[in-house]
Amino acid sequence: MNKPKNEPVSINQPPKLVDDKNIGPLKLSVSKVKFVGPAIMNHLKRLGIETVGDLLYHFPHRYIDLSKMRKIGELRVGENVTVIGEVRGVKIWRGRKGTRVINVSIFDGTGYIAGTWFNQDFIAKRLREGMQVTFSGKVAYKYRQLQIENPFYDVLSEKSSEPVHSGRIVPIHPATQNLTTNTIRRIVKNALDEYGNVEETLPGEIIKTYKLLSRAKALKDIHFPSSRELLLQARARFIFEELFLMQLGLAARKKRVEIQIKGIEHRRDGDLVRAFYETLPFKLTSDQQKVIDEIQTDMEKSKPMNRLLQGEVGSGKTVVALVSLLTAVQSGYQAAMMAPTEVLAGQHYLKTKEVLERLGVTVALLTGSLSLKEREKISGDIKDGNIDIVIGTHAIIQESVDFARLGMVVIDEQHRFGVMQRINLKEKGYYPDVLVMSATPIPRTLSLTLYGDLDVSIIKELPGGRKIGGHVDTVLFDRKSRELAYEKIRIEIAKGRQAYVVCPLIEESDKLEDVKAVMEEAERLKTEVFPDLRVGIIHGRMKAGEKENVMKQFSKCELDVLISTTVIEVGIDVPNATVMLVEDADRFGLAQLHQLRGRIGRGEHKSYCILFADPTTEEGDKRMNAILKIKDGFELAEADLQIRGEGQLFGTRQSGLPDLKLAKLTRDIEVLAEARKAAFNIIDKDPYLAAPSYRQLRQEVKDKFGDNVDWLFQA
Ligand code: ADP
Ligand code: MG
Repeated sequence: MNKPKNEPVSINQPPKLVDDKNIGPLKLSVSKVKFVGPAIMNHLKRLGIETVGDLLYHFPHRYIDLSKMRKIGELRVGENVTVIGEVRGVKIWRGRKGTRVINVSIFDGTGYIAGTWFNQDFIAKRLREGMQVTFSGKVAYKYRQLQIENPFYDVLSEKSSEPVHSGRIVPIHPATQNLTTNTIRRIVKNALDEYGNVEETLPGEIIKTYKLLSRAKALKDIHFPSSRELLLQARARFIFEELFLMQLGLAARKKRVEIQIKGIEHRRDGDLVRAFYETLPFKLTSDQQKVIDEIQTDMEKSKPMNRLLQGEVGSGKTVVALVSLLTAVQSGYQAAMMAPTEVLAGQHYLKTKEVLERLGVTVALLTGSLSLKEREKISGDIKDGNIDIVIGTHAIIQESVDFARLGMVVIDEQHRFGVMQRINLKEKGYYPDVLVMSATPIPRTLSLTLYGDLDVSIIKELPGGRKIGGHVDTVLFDRKSRELAYEKIRIEIAKGRQAYVVCPLIEESDKLEDVKAVMEEAERLKTEVFPDLRVGIIHGRMKAGEKENVMKQFSKCELDVLISTTVIEVGIDVPNATVMLVEDADRFGLAQLHQLRGRIGRGEHKSYCILFADPTTEEGDKRMNAILKIKDGFELAEADLQIRGEGQLFGTRQSGLPDLKLAKLTRDIEVLAEARKAAFNIIDKDPYLAAPSYRQLRQEVKDKFGDNVDWLFQA
């Protein structure tokens, strides 16, 4: 095999772009705004507002539509209403048992109505005579007075003489203890009057294509909408803007790799890969062929590959990984495969060693449990180029093992998606190709954002053309129906099938008390429920060898029922298992339940997933509904995101993505897709946003992404 020498990195330098020194009015201190003195400035700081721009982008979180207000004189008892009026009286009196009743009455020209609260004296301080306020809630008639108990209220203006600064739709801005929404409304108005005529940031063609309001117009209408229609348009503009700027940053980051960094041009055709295909006892599925083609097409190119391969457990990712590794080896390079745990690394090694060695490829397993001597020997061989393929844990890279010529890295993340780190491998002056494999479906929302600069390949079908979950029925039982579930298990086993019983989740699955619970439950099932069946147990505290033994027995059908903690999530493939019973299912996450359920329905037989749950939380309830209704892993992952709220994933600096104020990824996914398309188009044509017309845009991306796009602005 001819061994190429490492070539020095060739990095295309970006054009010299001088940053705009004239920073524009939005960067001015908020103290420049009329009415903002030192005190207000301090309070604004609490809201994260320091510049004029911050203030203008401090959007209302609610609006009150005055045209929807009801006349007090026309109200009926029992209705849910919102009314507006002037405060005419504020009283506090002592009710029975010392309760303090706060009673605030308002008048709107047609009648009086009172808001009442209990033991909330501060409301009597906040609502003063002469103020314009709104009350929302249910109308009652008590003590010969129209009342709303505990109304939702807003102060529209401080004095009756002062106009509500707006049209028919009154904005309610997020406020603090010391800074009322009323004051904020006033200073936002001042800021708009003086600085609101802002320059457009979005390119003209984008504004036109997506029929967006101009930035200045949208700013005005998001704060002080002249109509509902314009309010919606203003919001739509800023939602697009947020997503577009985010995608521009991602696109730029990705493009940089393509144009600035030189990767390796691997050879897809060669004896090694061909010989490997001949050793396979099966034909590749069309999905496998498709993703191998995508990977090899990338590997041939001179830009480094950064690809995510998604496919459920058992979908045949290992073969794909091997072809990628061998493609590098036949091109004269070394390759590495990394797994998240030593056990998984060991499994990969055992599974692949024989076939690779038969092809004349040298393989080594590199893990922490090697003796120092073994380790040094292997490290030396890797450095000298005597080893073609290294299999190990993520430590291979972290401890920067020296390779002679590393050309390809496969990172197997299994089900640990979410911890995936951005890979920035640079091996002695050049970049190897990288393939990340995940068995957890990553929802579209995330593959368009968090993982938005990776290319994605997906295997959807299991070998044999079956779809995961295709013929699994999922049912929810309450605990009283336990006998029925056991009966179902007996019926399936009588037909020659096998069953899983998954024990309740107690914190992490290898805690001692968890093991104890499993043991007790296993004992009960063995002696009381299934005395006539062959029952096995598996849990996280068992030694690897013991575990493997039990798994082997189960796959050879020497056990009927396998009782386990969640360890069976990963890696078990027993097509003959057709029932799974999950205890306390509502305590599992959706991704976990999906992985569990994926263990059945793998053969030709119809399968049944029985969930025991009495959800006590709303979230638990929603999760159960989702798992019953949805079979597709991607859809389920998307639902999971919606239930958990995307706030957990975004809004943290850690993600390296800008915060979103208005956009909600799960709701705005179509806009996200459009914004992404537009952003990638622009970066494709002008990677550094160097055109004069992109001056503002470039500044915005820089502001939003901060250090994460520094390279874009090397000047
Ligand atoms: P994954 O890594 O995606 O969880 P594996 O690569 O371990 O899945 O494959 C699961 C099983 O399916 C293995 O036993 C493998 O040999 C087998 N397999 C892979 N591809 C095919 C195929 N095209 N036809 C039949 N069996 C296959
Ligand atoms: Mg390449």
